[in-house]
Amino acid sequence: MSRTVYVNGEYLPEERATVSIFDRGFLFADAVYEVTSVLGGKLIDFDGHAARLDRSLGELGMSMPMEAEALRDVHHRLVAENGIEDGLIYLQVTRGAADRDFAFPEAGTAQTVVLFTQSKPGLADSPAAKMGLKVISIPDARWGRRDIKTVQLLYPSMGKMMAKAAGADDAWMVEDGHVTEGTSNNAYIVTGRKIVTRQLGQEILHGITRAAVLRMAREAQMEVEERSFTIEEAQAADEAFITSASSFVTPVVEIDGAKVGDGTPGKIAARLREIYLEESKRTAS
Ligand code: PLP
Repeated sequence: MSRTVYVNGEYLPEERATVSIFDRGFLFADAVYEVTSVLGGKLIDFDGHAARLDRSLGELGMSMPMEAEALRDVHHRLVAENGIEDGLIYLQVTRGAADRDFAFPEAGTAQTVVLFTQSKPGLADSPAAKMGLKVISIPDARWGRRDIKTVQLLYPSMGKMMAKAAGADDAWMVEDGHVTEGTSNNAYIVTGRKIVTRQLGQEILHGITRAAVLRMAREAQMEVEERSFTIEEAQAADEAFITSASSFVTPVVEIDGAKVGDGTPGKIAARLREIYLEESKRTAS
């Protein structure tokens, strides 16, 4: 069935939605995006995603295409029109269409704004949450501003393909001997009762789920340490897990063929997933 999508102020059937071949998102990856999950027809942490969108755009000299509240209304209308119970909303803002030139076009060039939904029934009951993920490590070959959520996703796509070829589910990226993050998620280990995840900086995306999970962990009196760690430390940890808007908290049970802990999902990851889903559903809008 055809979805209704949003393109530059219009709600259209997906077949009729178009953007210019001169769009800078297409030619230069000159664009940023957000993915917000939907559970029970409601948005999870929309305010966090809107705030990060504003920051990503600002870092690239762009501005919000509309007020956050208007953006929320677009999300709600797409959820309603497409009957989304559980799923994702993808949003992309590009610098717009202009004759091809490396220099940015003149101020006032209309941005391109696109949103679409993906229905994912049972999003919060994924088999990965029960089974855990196998990850491999790969070098982090991305650009240096990973804190900006740009649409330059070729290397993360390649990383997922490398993982698949190795019989794994995903890849953790390594730079200067330390894990930066997963291809599309933040990475964590648990040693003793301490949750360890890389500190914020330009080397990683500032995950909206990361921020919420760390806040909830601290509220639950769990110990949290923000520092980088190696693959060897992760392999020797008691538990490992990832977070993202679409996977929430998901355990990692194997890293480069070595079992983490006893090779089954850990208790702390399971508890954090429970707390995160409960709290997120309660505050969904
Ligand atoms: N790190 C990377 C590289 C990502 O692509 C993502 C999500 O797409 C994340 C982390 C997790 O961010 P969030 O929790 O905001 O989805």
